[in-house]
Formats: sequence, structure tokens, C-alpha cells
Amino acid sequence: MPHPTDPPTGEQNALNLDAALQLLDQSGHRLPDLRQVGKALWLQAVIDGLCELSSRDPLTGLANRRHFELMLAGEVDRVARAGEPALVLMIDIDHFKKVNDAHGHPAGDEVLKHVARALQECIRPMDTVARFGGEEFAMILPNCPPSFAQAVAERIRMRIQVMAIPIAPGDSVRVTVSLGGAFAPQWVRSSPLLWVERADQQLYRAKSEGRNRACLEQPAVSLVSAEEKGLLFGTSQFQDFA
Ligand code: GH3
Ligand code: MG
Ligand code: MG
Repeated sequence: MPHPTDPPTGEQNALNLDAALQLLDQSGHRLPDLRQVGKALWLQAVIDGLCELSSRDPLTGLANRRHFELMLAGEVDRVARAGEPALVLMIDIDHFKKVNDAHGHPAGDEVLKHVARALQECIRPMDTVARFGGEEFAMILPNCPPSFAQAVAERIRMRIQVMAIPIAPGDSVRVTVSLGGAFAPQWVRSSPLLWVERADQQLYRAKSEGRNRACLEQPAVSLVSAEEKGLLFGTSQFQDFA
């Protein structure tokens, strides 16, 4: 009897799907039963599974940086079109190296998983939270006006601060996070890179001001930067007026 992950027989065998199927199997991804679907549907399920796999961080299950950058590019488009305020938050665990040093790498991994889950619980369905790299996370919060942003960032900071994270039977650790936030310039096409860079500058400020705090770019400072103006005039119908 064929296994659900066996490739279809016949001409489809010309494709070598071994590596793809192994990856899906190893990640616990279940493919539909061959006997119930046609070849095209089955192949589509393989492709969908691989897309899902390449968008996720394996440790935390959050979106990975690749997926984050895709979502961010979409948000840049949306902000330029609709002019809605949007916030990017960069979130970094404070003194995380000390957790690894004191309790070991597996305990550090546990902390990352718990922080990831807590961040996930802080967001709305339209928001994106990703593991940006190492012990750094990133969020996109569409339609988040500057007047709410500080409260949102503060709520996230508190949510992490109060957690006792179990790392072994009877043993737990606490961590804090620093957050940096920047708004997309409304009605203007920024670039994902510049937007993240501005949020990163605020994260750097939060670290240098003592950690366990949220620093957001003041909306007044969020005026279009020279580089962003260059992007706008470099590609738009107003080129002749620049
Ligand atoms: P800061 O407050 O300035 O951010 O200090 P920090 O110690 O958090 O930052 P630093 O960049 O010095 O150290 C980050 C550490 O995160 C070092 C690295 O070993 C650890 N790390 C990165 N990825 C992983 C991971 O997947 N698992 C574990 N356990 N540790 C990781
Ligand atoms: Mg850190
Ligand atoms: Mg870091």
C-alpha cells in the first residue's frame, strides 16, 4: 500500500522529489493521501508545504526573516497607497548571552521559544511577528497610529518582563526586552531597508539608555528622509519637478 508521502507513479516519476519529501516529512508536514487526490493537487500540496517551510523559523515556528521582508515590502506598498500609519518594532532580548552562559544553550532555546509565543499572543491577526535573527524579533503593525504605538510597545515589554520561563524542572529564568520602533512615512514610498534601519536606530537607543525599555521614533522625526525622497522622485511621475 503506498505511503501518503510516496510520489505519484507514472510520468511524475521524472521529477526527483526525494529531498523535498524528506524535508516535509522531517518537519512533520502531512501531505494529502495520494489515493484521494490527483497528481496536480498532490504536487501543489508539496509546493505549498515547501513554501510554508521556507517562511518559518524552525526553532520558534514564527515567520522567518525572509517572510518578514516579503510582508514588509507589501506593507510599504499599502502605506504608500492608503496613507495609513504603520509601525515596525524591532525587539531584542537583553543580555541573552548571559542566559546561555549561565544555563546552557538548550535553556537559551527554551527562552527563545517562550518569548516567541508571548510575542505571538500580543499581536492582532493583521500583524506580523518574525524571528529576525538570533535573539532579535521584528513586528509589523499595520494601521497603528503614533498615539497608540507607545502603549502597544510598552504592553509587549511588560508581557515579557513578568514571565517566569521554565528551563528545567523547578528552575526558571526571567528576561527583559528592548524595543525600537519607527513609522512608515505616510503617502510616501519608503524602502523596507530604510524603515527597518530607522527602527534599529531606536532599538540601539533603547539599549544605550539602559535596556528593558521601548524607544519610538517621534512622528515629527518621521518626516521623509533625504534617501526616501530620492526613492520617491527617482521613480515617480514627479521626476521632472525634483
Ligand atoms: P544585548 O542586551 O546587548 O542585546 O546583549 P545580548 O547578550 O543579548 O547580545 P549578544 O549579541 O552579545 O548575544 C546574543 C547571543 O544570542 C549570542 C548567541 O550565542 C545567542 N544566540 C543567537 N541565536 C541563538 C539560538 O538560536 N539559541 C541560543 N540558545 N542562543 C542564541
Ligand atoms: Mg540581545
Ligand atoms: Mg541582538
